[in-house]
Amino acid sequence: VWHRCLERLEAELPAEDVHTWLKPLQSSARNGAMVLFAPNAFVVEHVRDRYLDRIQELLAHFAGSDAVSLEVGSLPRAATAASAADAPHRANAAPAAEAFNGNLDSHYTFENFVEGRSNQLGRAAAMQAALNPGERGHNPLLLYGGTGLGKTHLMFAAGNLMRSNNPGTRVMYLRSEQFFSAMMKALQEKAMDGFKRHFQQVDALLIDDIQFFAGKDRTQEEFFHTFNALFDGKQQIILTCDRYPREVDGLEPRLKSRLAWGLSVAIEPPDFETRAQIVLSKAAERGVVIPEDVAFLLAKKMRSNVRDLEGALNTLTARANFTGRAITTEFAQETLRDLLRAQQHAIGIPNIQKTVADYFGLQMKDMLSKRRTRSLARPRQMAMALTKELTEHSLPEIGDAFGGRDHTTVLHACRQIRTLMETDGKMREDWEKLIRKLSE
Ligand code: ADP
Ligand code: MG
Repeated sequence: VWHRCLERLEAELPAEDVHTWLKPLQSSARNGAMVLFAPNAFVVEHVRDRYLDRIQELLAHFAGSDAVSLEVGSLPRAATAASAADAPHRANAAPAAEAFNGNLDSHYTFENFVEGRSNQLGRAAAMQAALNPGERGHNPLLLYGGTGLGKTHLMFAAGNLMRSNNPGTRVMYLRSEQFFSAMMKALQEKAMDGFKRHFQQVDALLIDDIQFFAGKDRTQEEFFHTFNALFDGKQQIILTCDRYPREVDGLEPRLKSRLAWGLSVAIEPPDFETRAQIVLSKAAERGVVIPEDVAFLLAKKMRSNVRDLEGALNTLTARANFTGRAITTEFAQETLRDLLRAQQHAIGIPNIQKTVADYFGLQMKDMLSKRRTRSLARPRQMAMALTKELTEHSLPEIGDAFGGRDHTTVLHACRQIRTLMETDGKMREDWEKLIRKLSE
């Protein structure tokens, strides 16, 4: 089956990508699911990010099931010859735990998760759930926040920790679409009893991105029953969502209120220091040496989410490998120029002014006016400081764009905002939120 998927992918993707990322994968089967072995964690991650969705579609098409797990490793030596004869025997003999853990990506752990103010609570909560699964205070545990901020990473980390503390633990991880398709399949095959039993046998059920349950009433109903059974059985439930669930239209009220029984924690966008730490840690993980300045540059420029930050690091290392050049600040600047320019271009001063005005409930003309009441002056200063932070415009240019102000006024605004942020938590929060809005 993998062979056929690969043929299809070869037709769809650039030869170089197939050669670099997909050809090195070795396929095997375990308990009816495909296992793809990759030579290292970097490949696992890259394939998971870029190609896994498509691979799953192809698998569903060719094999009728999209069950696949990506792992670091290689084929057991005798596997090719023995697997066919061995499989049924192994399926019976294997401890039940085997069957449940295929989906859990063992690469994502607490050790390689960089802690910062933005994710401290989420990390602590995931750790608690992993150490004392099923306990009231954190069951269910819900991690919510924007994409690419580490929710799935923490979820995997919790699952992996449960298993390493207690190897028999049955942890099941599913994206909510997988839960949905498993249920559809069970419905078609009139196998709902088996479906229910399957989920209720786990020690921990991890369901990722439950916003996809919105509007799928039957799925929610089944999930609700599963949820109740697990909750009563003191089995741990961990969920993620890209928003606070109350804000997701089409999620059932009774499901929303169940979520409130446990613990819900927001994952925020990481601050500058955390972003820089993440770059350094990801680089080290890949055995790439990068100067701190380059990490700072990436952290300064890539703000919207960690996935993009990682993407920039990947671009950089790929280019360095390809050209054989060292990763210096100049090299980084050069390589990322297009990427960054596209970003800056998209931002633009009018866009910043409009976004800030909307955020504070003001009008665009208030950004340019001479009036200096506090309620106008602060947002205006914030907008100027944001422009300085996010674009390459000079102080006089910024002054011009804000109703013809002097460059010293702009400088003052930047300093004022910086100073205030050190003590004013609300202001800091506004700043981070606006940066995020503008970097998306
Ligand atoms: P989400 O599920 O919130 O969309 P992911 O968990 O998939 O985000 O994270 C995206 C990428 O960013 C992953 O490769 C993950 O390892 C990485 N990442 C996010 N936050 C951190 C962190 N604090 N430390 C290390 N890596 C992180
Ligand atoms: Mg995720």
